[in-house]
Amino acid sequence: MGLFTRNTVESGTKCKKCGSELHSSERLKRHQKIAHDKKNDKCRVCGKEFPDPEDLRRHKKQCR
Ligand SMILES: [Zn+2]
Ligand SMILES: [Zn+2]
Repeated sequence: MGLFTRNTVESGTKCKKCGSELHSSERLKRHQKIAHDKKNDKCRVCGKEFPDPEDLRRHKKQCR
Protein backbone atom coordinates (compact mmCIF):
# COMPACT_ATOMS: atom_id res chain seq x y z
CA MET A 1 0.00 0.00 0.00
CA GLY A 2 0.99 3.59 -0.37
CA LEU A 3 2.73 3.04 -3.66
CA PHE A 4 0.80 5.74 -5.41
CA THR A 5 2.96 8.61 -6.47
CA ARG A 6 1.95 11.86 -8.01
CA ASN A 7 4.79 11.74 -10.47
CA THR A 8 2.84 10.09 -13.22
CA VAL A 9 3.12 11.92 -16.48
CA GLU A 10 0.14 14.12 -17.16
CA SER A 11 -1.89 13.30 -20.18
CA GLY A 12 -1.12 15.65 -23.00
CA THR A 13 2.56 15.98 -22.24
CA LYS A 14 3.67 13.83 -25.09
CA CYS A 15 4.78 15.59 -28.21
CA LYS A 16 2.64 14.48 -31.10
CA LYS A 17 5.28 15.30 -33.63
CA CYS A 18 8.27 13.40 -32.32
CA GLY A 19 6.85 11.32 -29.46
CA SER A 20 9.03 12.85 -26.80
CA GLU A 21 7.53 12.80 -23.35
CA LEU A 22 7.80 16.00 -21.40
CA HIS A 23 7.19 16.22 -17.69
CA SER A 24 4.77 19.12 -17.83
CA SER A 25 2.57 20.84 -20.34
CA GLU A 26 4.72 23.94 -20.01
CA ARG A 27 7.80 22.00 -20.99
CA LEU A 28 5.89 20.47 -23.85
CA LYS A 29 4.98 23.90 -25.16
CA ARG A 30 8.56 24.97 -24.85
CA HIS A 31 9.77 21.82 -26.54
CA GLN A 32 7.39 22.23 -29.45
CA LYS A 33 8.47 25.80 -29.93
CA ILE A 34 12.14 24.95 -29.90
CA ALA A 35 11.97 21.67 -31.76
CA HIS A 36 9.12 22.11 -34.23
CA ASP A 37 8.07 25.74 -34.53
CA LYS A 38 10.61 26.71 -37.12
CA LYS A 39 8.75 27.39 -40.31
CA ASN A 40 11.44 29.56 -41.77
CA ASP A 41 14.40 27.70 -40.44
CA LYS A 42 14.70 25.25 -43.27
CA CYS A 43 17.09 25.56 -46.16
CA ARG A 44 15.09 25.53 -49.35
CA VAL A 45 18.03 24.23 -51.32
CA CYS A 46 19.03 21.16 -49.35
CA GLY A 47 16.16 20.87 -46.86
CA LYS A 48 18.38 20.91 -43.81
CA GLU A 49 16.75 22.32 -40.67
CA PHE A 50 18.36 24.83 -38.38
CA PRO A 51 17.08 25.54 -34.86
CA ASP A 52 19.01 28.79 -34.87
CA PRO A 53 17.95 31.31 -37.55
CA GLU A 54 21.45 32.73 -37.52
CA ASP A 55 22.89 29.37 -38.51
CA LEU A 56 20.41 29.16 -41.35
CA ARG A 57 21.36 32.59 -42.63
CA ARG A 58 25.01 31.66 -42.56
CA HIS A 59 24.31 28.34 -44.22
CA LYS A 60 22.26 29.86 -47.03
CA LYS A 61 25.22 31.87 -48.18
CA GLN A 62 27.28 28.73 -48.56
CA CYS A 63 24.59 26.44 -49.87
CA ARG A 64 24.44 27.28 -53.54
ZN1 LIG B 1 8.65 17.00 -30.39
ZN1 LIG C 1 21.29 24.07 -47.70
